[in-house]
Amino acid sequence: MAEAMFERVALIGLGLIGSSLAHAMRRKKLAKHVAGHARSEATRGTAKRRKLTDSVHETAGEAVESADLVILCVPVGACGPIAKDIAKSLKPGAILTDVGSVKGAVVRDVTEHVPDGVHFIPGHPIAGTEQSGPESGFAELFDGRWCILTPPKGSDAAAVSKLETFWQACGSHVEVMDAEHHDLVLAITSHLPHLIAYNIVGTAADLEQVTKSEVIKYSAGGFRDFTRIAASDPVMWRDVFLNNKEAVLEMLGRFSEDLSALQRAIRWSDGDTLISLFTRAREIRRGIIAAGQDTPAPDFGRHGTDHQSGGSSPTLKGPR
Ligand code: NAP
Repeated sequence: MAEAMFERVALIGLGLIGSSLAHAMRRKKLAKHVAGHARSEATRGTAKRRKLTDSVHETAGEAVESADLVILCVPVGACGPIAKDIAKSLKPGAILTDVGSVKGAVVRDVTEHVPDGVHFIPGHPIAGTEQSGPESGFAELFDGRWCILTPPKGSDAAAVSKLETFWQACGSHVEVMDAEHHDLVLAITSHLPHLIAYNIVGTAADLEQVTKSEVIKYSAGGFRDFTRIAASDPVMWRDVFLNNKEAVLEMLGRFSEDLSALQRAIRWSDGDTLISLFTRAREIRRGIIAAGQDTPAPDFGRHGTDHQSGGSSPTLKGPR
C-alpha cells in the first residue's frame, strides 16, 4: 500500500467542507489518522456516529496536537479566534490552512497567531452545494474543481507544494494567486450572485400581490435556481459579505450601472442591446460547460439527483 501523505490531519469544523474532506481523504488514504473537532456536541455526536473521522475532540487544541496538517473548515469570521485558540498546540513544521471563501480577511486575522515554524498557507476550494452540516459531505465534491491557494510572500516552497499535492489527491486542480486578486475574482463569480439570489428571493417573498403558494407553484421559470442558491448557510454568507466588503461593493457598483443600462434598453424598446447581451451571456454558459465546470444536461442535471449524500455524490453542485 502506498504511504499516506500525512501521519495526522486535523479538521476543525465538520460541516459540508470538513466532512467532504474527511470522505475525500479516506477515499485515497491520504492520512493515517484524521482528527476532527466541531463546536457543538450535536455535530461531534454525528461525526462519531457516522465515523467521519478517526477521533473526535471536544476542543480544537486537542484535535491539532501533533497534526502535520491542520485545516480550518469554519466560517471566515471564526478563523482568527480559532487560530488564537490552537496556536500553542500546533506542532513545529505543521501546515496550517483553511477553506474560507474570503482570503484577505483570513490572512489578516490568522497570521498574527501563527507560531514560528508553522507554515500558514490559506486556501479555498471552489466547490460546494447549498447544503451544510456534517451529513452533507461527499468524497467527490472536489473532483474536477479548482482549489485556489494564496501563500503569503516568503512561504515555504516545500509546504506549498505538499498542500498542492494534497488538493490534487482530493480531486482538485490547483491555482496559486494572491489573496487580494482571489477576493476580487470571487466577488463577481460567487459573492455577488449569492447577494442577488438573497435579494430576489427576499423581494419575491415580500410582494404582497403574489401569494406564497404562487411563488412556489410557478418557480420553474428561473426563480427556483435563485432559491437554491439562497438556501446556503446564513452564517457562512454573512461572514463572506462582512469580510469582503470592498470587492463586493466595487462589483455591486458595476452591476448596478449595467442593470440601469438594461432598464433603459427595455424602456426604449432597444431590442438590439438585449440580443447582444443575451447572446454574449449564452456564450459564457457554453464556455463553462466546455471547461467541464458544469453539466450540459437539461435542467442543470437536476433529474435523478440524490441530495442525501452521506458520502455518496449528488450530481447537482456548483462553484462557491
Ligand atoms: P457548514 O456546513 O455550516 O459547517 C461549518 C462548521 O464550522 C460546523 O462544523 C460548525 O460547527 C463549525 N463552526 C461554526 N462556527 C464556529 C465557531 N465560531 N467556532 C468553531 N466552530 C464553528 O459550513 P461549510 O459550508 O462547511 O463552510 C465552511 C467554510 O468553507 C466557510 O469558511 C466557507 O466560506 C467555506 N466554503 C464553503 C463552501 C460551500 O459551498 N458551502 C465552498 C467553499 C468554501 P457546528 O456544526 O458544531 O456548529
